[in-house]
Amino acid sequence: MGESVLKTLVIYTATLVIAVALILVPVYVHYGEIHIPGSYNALYLSKYSPYKTIVVEIDYQPGMEPAPEAVEALKQQIEMYSGKEVLIYIDQDIEDDEVPAVIRGDDLFTTTSMLQEQNRDYRTGWFGGNITLYILYLDTVWHPEDQDYSTRPASSTKPYSVGVTYAADSIIIFKGSLPRNGMETTILLHEQGHIWGFGHTNESDNIMNAEFEVYKNGPSPDDVVETWYPKEFDPAQKEELARLHETMHILPLFN
Ligand SMILES: [Zn+2]
Repeated sequence: MGESVLKTLVIYTATLVIAVALILVPVYVHYGEIHIPGSYNALYLSKYSPYKTIVVEIDYQPGMEPAPEAVEALKQQIEMYSGKEVLIYIDQDIEDDEVPAVIRGDDLFTTTSMLQEQNRDYRTGWFGGNITLYILYLDTVWHPEDQDYSTRPASSTKPYSVGVTYAADSIIIFKGSLPRNGMETTILLHEQGHIWGFGHTNESDNIMNAEFEVYKNGPSPDDVVETWYPKEFDPAQKEELARLHETMHILPLFN
């Protein structure tokens, strides 16, 4: 094969790859529902991200309104680590008859797809502008199939999931399963941690401890002091968030 033919081939291939990336990436981000939490982490955090504003839309079922201090804490953390403007919209959009009393396993995805279709008002821009985060506050119980709650302490009366990050840009808080204490801020920040690409840790005082995602027995479940739950990421996690703020690798899944 002549050198010029090879050169032409390389140029054609490179052009094709770039063209596909230019089309597929915006489609991928715009339509959302990518079930890989963390895949938009640099789009949310990097100073090189084309998205300059983060729109957080919170839709809740009657009686499941988010705690103002939890939303404020989330807003502050997102602003701090992204350096972007954060706009929060909270609506009681979800009707009781839209949400089943119990959701099992992967039915979560069909339920949330339907809820998003009917209630989500904000979408991420095609090439820049706003990037959105969608949070549902629901009064339902989710029983994930892949989690075994049988090893939880016998004193646990509500071993239910209190939060889940089910997509790159979407979170559910099962507010009806939250104990009446200071846990809401922690679980909301824990789910935000998944959006930023963090997995679970074992340290009991780390915000990303998996135990926070299910009802956690405190010293006394109903009147645990607020300070018992972590409200900040640890130094290594903060370092990772700072790295993501500086990264130029903003394409989904490449961080
Ligand atoms: Zn988690």
